[in-house]
Amino acid sequence: MSSKSLHDRRRAAVAPGVSSVIDSYVSHASGGTLTDVDGREWIDFAAGIAVTNVGNSAPRVVEAVRAQVERFTHTCFMVAPYEVYIDVCEQLNALTPGTFEKRSALFNSGAEAVENAVKIARHATGRPAIVVFEHAYHGRTNLTMALTAKNMPYKHRFGPFAGEIYRVPMSYPLRDTLDGPAAAARAIDLIEKQVGAANVAAVLIEPIQGEGGFVVPAPGFVSGLHAWATGAGAVLIADEIQTGFCRTGDWFASTFEGVEPDLITTAKGLGGGLPLAGVTGRAAIMDAVHVGGLGGTYGGNPIACAAALAGIETMRELSLADAAVAIEAAMVPRLRAIAEQDPRIAEVRGRGAMLAVEIVVPGGELTPDPATTAAVSAACHRGGLLTLTCGTYGNVLRFLPPLVMPAETLERGMRILEGAFASVGR
Ligand SMILES: *Cc1c(COP(=O)(O)O)cnc(C)c1O
Repeated sequence: MSSKSLHDRRRAAVAPGVSSVIDSYVSHASGGTLTDVDGREWIDFAAGIAVTNVGNSAPRVVEAVRAQVERFTHTCFMVAPYEVYIDVCEQLNALTPGTFEKRSALFNSGAEAVENAVKIARHATGRPAIVVFEHAYHGRTNLTMALTAKNMPYKHRFGPFAGEIYRVPMSYPLRDTLDGPAAAARAIDLIEKQVGAANVAAVLIEPIQGEGGFVVPAPGFVSGLHAWATGAGAVLIADEIQTGFCRTGDWFASTFEGVEPDLITTAKGLGGGLPLAGVTGRAAIMDAVHVGGLGGTYGGNPIACAAALAGIETMRELSLADAAVAIEAAMVPRLRAIAEQDPRIAEVRGRGAMLAVEIVVPGGELTPDPATTAAVSAACHRGGLLTLTCGTYGNVLRFLPPLVMPAETLERGMRILEGAFASVGR
């Protein structure tokens, strides 16, 4: 089957609302490349959106999945429990920031984890309001659409949305003159005046925004909000679904902000490529929910749990947090060199192996240029480099290589990227 014939079948069979970045179809994939059904190799700067941090079909993951699938595939943890679920919760409790006592619960997707974190925060505080940020992305279910900022394509005509969600300004250093504490004070003032501190169950924030544009808030922003939340009797939920599991150069990005979140949501990199998500947090908050109040048929599926444990072992064994730092060290100077020659790049930003460039119309107005961004990304694809865009204005080109990507593959990817910028006319 060629990509072309698969694409024809897809158009007849698959709902068009589900779209793909490229129209080549995958045959197999490894630690740094995908091979399509036409035999063409792609350098992977997407990692399935920050999922395959350990690479595709990582050896330990394959072995663990094979062993688990032979023992049992599903009993439902709510019906007949099993050890690997507990193992994953213990790992989450140990690896997330903070040495206080924690509990975890497992789910299937990031959106489901965020929904449950909101349920837990509301239950534990007895309050309704959830504070979220400009450019935030938290998922596509009804509640998480309400939490997500961007209308197209995530929310358009999918409402009405859940209530008691309040959006405040993000710290966005490129487009914002405020430092972190001042940006936090601006947000806090809005919360106090327009929501009321006593009504706030949780402040929900991505320590580095994902789909919203890889926005890295100024230092002191997240910690300022956490300090305020603690004083106000509210919960800080860090959505580390994209930033977690070594992606930014540590197990979690909150560490770089000096923040020990009350609740953390995880998914993407957690499952070693299988669907698994978690909510981890302070025991006092997690224990508040009545017995039976949380769950789901598939949450913490044993095969996904086995894959997660093998993935975490791989991250430890190969020091993948250090690998993310090495990727940053290799890529950032190259990206800065491109930016120096190309006035369309307003900023190179990110942390670890979560890097991006924001593309604007030259001239100092910082006018977003989604057309050039799409053109550069398309040129990368023509060159065999799989890149993604993001951002409220679609003008951010982001890079999320698997953390196991060989240096030589990364180097080839960077050369394709340089060529792509050079080939797209100004
Ligand atoms: C991807 C993502 C989600 C949603 O996860 P799904 O598994 O797609 O439901 C939520 N929050 C952040 C920060 C994400 O990057």
